[in-house]
Amino acid sequence: MKRSLVIVGAGLGGCFLADQLAESWDVTIVELGSRSTQLQQQLRDADKAAITYPHVGSGLGGTTTVWHNGLIEVDETVFQQKWPFPKAELAQYYKQAFQKLAGVCQDDIIQEIGVLRQKLNAFGLPKNLLGLGLYYPRRRINVWHALALKKRVKIIKGEVVDLMPGDSAEIHHLIIKCGNQTVDLAGDVFVLAAGGLGTPLLLQKMAETLTLPALQQAGLHYEDHPSAFVGDVVLDEPLYKLWNFPVASAKGNLRLPLVVQQDGLLISFQLRPASQFRMGPPRNRVKSVLNQLRNEPFKLRNYFRLLSHGDDVLEILSFKYGIRLPTRHYSLLMVAEQPPSNDCAVWRDQQSQAIYRKWNLSPSYVSSLQKSIQQVLLLLGDKVKSATIFTGWLESAFSSSHHSGTARMANTPTQGVCDPNGLVFGMKNLYVCDGSLIPASGYANTGLTIAALALRMATHLRAVH
Ligand SMILES: Cc1cc2nc3c(=O)[nH]c(=O)nc-3n(C[C@H](O)[C@H](O)[C@H](O)COP(=O)(O)OP(=O)(O)OC[C@H]3O[C@@H](n4cnc5c(N)ncnc54)[C@H](O)[C@@H]3O)c2cc1C
Repeated sequence: MKRSLVIVGAGLGGCFLADQLAESWDVTIVELGSRSTQLQQQLRDADKAAITYPHVGSGLGGTTTVWHNGLIEVDETVFQQKWPFPKAELAQYYKQAFQKLAGVCQDDIIQEIGVLRQKLNAFGLPKNLLGLGLYYPRRRINVWHALALKKRVKIIKGEVVDLMPGDSAEIHHLIIKCGNQTVDLAGDVFVLAAGGLGTPLLLQKMAETLTLPALQQAGLHYEDHPSAFVGDVVLDEPLYKLWNFPVASAKGNLRLPLVVQQDGLLISFQLRPASQFRMGPPRNRVKSVLNQLRNEPFKLRNYFRLLSHGDDVLEILSFKYGIRLPTRHYSLLMVAEQPPSNDCAVWRDQQSQAIYRKWNLSPSYVSSLQKSIQQVLLLLGDKVKSATIFTGWLESAFSSSHHSGTARMANTPTQGVCDPNGLVFGMKNLYVCDGSLIPASGYANTGLTIAALALRMATHLRAVH
């Protein structure tokens, strides 16, 4: 008789775990469903607005229905300082996860990262400024489809609204709202994979009836990666061949962010063709000339004006259409580590039922970010011929939608919700397997790490249950 595993959420973490256990366990996934925009509509920002919309996805595949599929590991130093186990424990799972998310062997990409590192160094970018490789497969995948889960697992479309404990620190069944009906679902092991914003809500609901110290931390320690185009940079020579490096051996592109350490945080920067940015002065000028051209196509003067912005036009062609023409103008995109919030940052308002995310960028944090911008320019040295930092970059800073930390792993229940295996402290059969489990990610997108953690959890569940 197979053991039964109930997973809440068919997103990145949930699908990876289900894929691993589908043959040996009786797996059921409960998912809100793709037609339901419930989650997105209920989300509100209590402090800084996300700007990114939608900043969460639902349905089969979860947020991978809308993501960009950029893959990067978390830096070794972040594990050393902020994780309850060393990075080496995740190494084999990173490799497996990479293969599944990119369709290519990670070792091949690691080789290409070495090549790109050398090229960027020869170009004049200091070695100590170059971070880990960020790989974008040309085709984005939805994990549900890529892992071919249809018919391998049972799916229940509905919203899990509560978890009911039985005797002796175990969950006995879930309560699911399916339309107007309420359904109970029992199981042997339960895994919350409802995402960094969904999982803490369920744990908070549990805390209303169950006194467990770890549950008091659900929704705390929230992290995202605030991102912003912070300025325009003119380099001494074109970087157009290297900023989004095509990988010859695979269908994808590679970027090496520039990374600085500031006040204990890792802040990354990308130099991207400047047409990406909408606010800066040169592109506004091009836009206005293009508008005039559209309105007055027979006025020769407008064509001459466009030619006088030749550099900017080349950048637009380069970024938007992959036509790689020499350009020296780049936007500086910042993607920053965020210190975990001390207060509860995710909660449901009982009256309106809205879900709130409080994304607080404190003045001291913003000051660290300001300093990091100066630092990266300083380290780029003579490579930068001129730089304009936008005074209003903070207002347009947006969420990277890497919702994490809200049920983080830790060594003790006073530091986090889950133990290093993802088991909720004080429970015997309740696990967390999504972004909320991640204790810290530095400047790295979290998708690859969520998948690696799910693979590691599958090994644990096979061994223990
Ligand atoms: C626009 C965008 C671009 C991104 N690009 C990248 C990128 O390039 N690289 C990267 O690494 N990351 C990227 N991300 C982030 C990445 O997609 C997420 O970090 C990742 O998908 C989160 O996985 P998860 O398992 O934590 O949750 P999710 O994938 O969000 O899955 C959670 C699932 O649980 C379901 N659910 C929630 N509550 C309940 C409930 N009560 N009952 C039943 N089901 C429930 C939801 O509907 C959802 O399907 C991006 C995100 C966005 C929005």
